[in-house]
Amino acid sequence: MTRLVCFFLVLCSLFPASALAKQPSDWFETFKASATDQELHQLLYEMPKGGDLHQHLSGAMFSEWWLDLALNARRDGYEYYTRVELRNCRQYGYDAFGPQPVNLMFHNLERINYEALLACEKSQYLPLAEMSKLQTQAWLDSIRLDKAYEGRDEFFETHWQRLGDLTANPWIRAEGIFLNMRAFADEGLLYMESQVATDGYQTASGKSIPADEVAAIFRARLAKKDALATGMTVRFQQAVLRFLPNAEQQLTQAYRFVASNWPWVAVNLVGREDNDKGHPLRFLSTLRELRKQHHGVSLSIHAGEVDEPNSHVLDTLLLGADRIGHGLNLITDPQTLLIMRHGPYLVEINLISNLLLQYIDDYQSHPFPEYLRIGVPVALSSDDRGMWDSTMTDEFFVAVKEFNLSWSEIKQLSRNSISYSFLEEPEKGNLLALFEQRMGKFERQIHSDTSVRPVRRNSAPKRGFICRNYHICSD
Ligand SMILES: [Zn+2]
Repeated sequence: MTRLVCFFLVLCSLFPASALAKQPSDWFETFKASATDQELHQLLYEMPKGGDLHQHLSGAMFSEWWLDLALNARRDGYEYYTRVELRNCRQYGYDAFGPQPVNLMFHNLERINYEALLACEKSQYLPLAEMSKLQTQAWLDSIRLDKAYEGRDEFFETHWQRLGDLTANPWIRAEGIFLNMRAFADEGLLYMESQVATDGYQTASGKSIPADEVAAIFRARLAKKDALATGMTVRFQQAVLRFLPNAEQQLTQAYRFVASNWPWVAVNLVGREDNDKGHPLRFLSTLRELRKQHHGVSLSIHAGEVDEPNSHVLDTLLLGADRIGHGLNLITDPQTLLIMRHGPYLVEINLISNLLLQYIDDYQSHPFPEYLRIGVPVALSSDDRGMWDSTMTDEFFVAVKEFNLSWSEIKQLSRNSISYSFLEEPEKGNLLALFEQRMGKFERQIHSDTSVRPVRRNSAPKRGFICRNYHICSD
């Protein structure tokens, strides 16, 4: 029998089916006490899940996806080059983050921008298709946080900049939406709410593509047969980089766009919070003006993803946010914490992100169990899982392993991830009902003494994070 065998068989080997049937609420405690990490991970993979409410589309794409899509972009007329050498040439930037760092290996350029380089600069770049095996591996690793010495700065200051012109191709992004839908559906999710901007895109000849056209490309991808077949429901948030000098203007554009462009449902403010230029109250007057003119725009905003105590979570609630991304330092703000107990606001918890970006030293210092168990609404989310090289299953695994979650807590997290979504009614109610139906079936299979049958026969993906940190690795 292979190790790919379903956990139901594992369950039955751990205790008799009759015991499962008699103690439906305790089965998970018994399972946790006896199962290997691999078995727990497989169970959490097969378990039905709700939604992913906090996910940046570019960061959610795995390195292999980026490479495949970049190599296939010739179909749409794009051709990409990447920097494989560093020479002492004059450098100029091409990305939205301003001038690029001079010594950035595996920075990606589209042909039109490559051709504009000086000869010395050009000599550092190679067409993606011509990379050696070694260079290809290094390219893939260059947009993953996979080294012990890599952290926040590597992520914020090199990963996005490296992607460079790849992020300006709307067809790559559209395909990325589909790949995420498929991967999340494989993990048993029903819903995702991706943060994706519709500005800053270009044709292969360098012409700017209007936001409406980009939105049409994304909508068309969602409507394709293979995307519909995933069964995933998708909504988008428009992301605004909060510390830019013109962030108010961008927020205004994004808000107006969302007000009239379904399936965009919300605006988010993103970017490192330790850059105080993007502090929450900077946007209060802009949002109040926007609320005078537009309706139907929800707000989920990153807040409290910093090392020091401050009032960012409270300030962000004042901005009108219904959900808080990360909320790590909410634990240091007692009055706001009390407001949020049993309240209408949800904190989007990103366990793997917080560890890899060094906002916590270890999971014992993470406030998630405190929020969960004093009644602050929370849900698990994946943030930039492509760059963590991880999955939603891994998020649940970390939560169960580090904080001894009960089965009812696990289910509550999934229910929250639908009921606090910005999905409209009746879709929200329908998804909640579908989740309950799937979960009911899953539990009946667990407790059945006759139908010990796998929900799926495939093995959970075991990617870099879970392998490096918990030794759950592919065969
Ligand atoms: Zn985020």
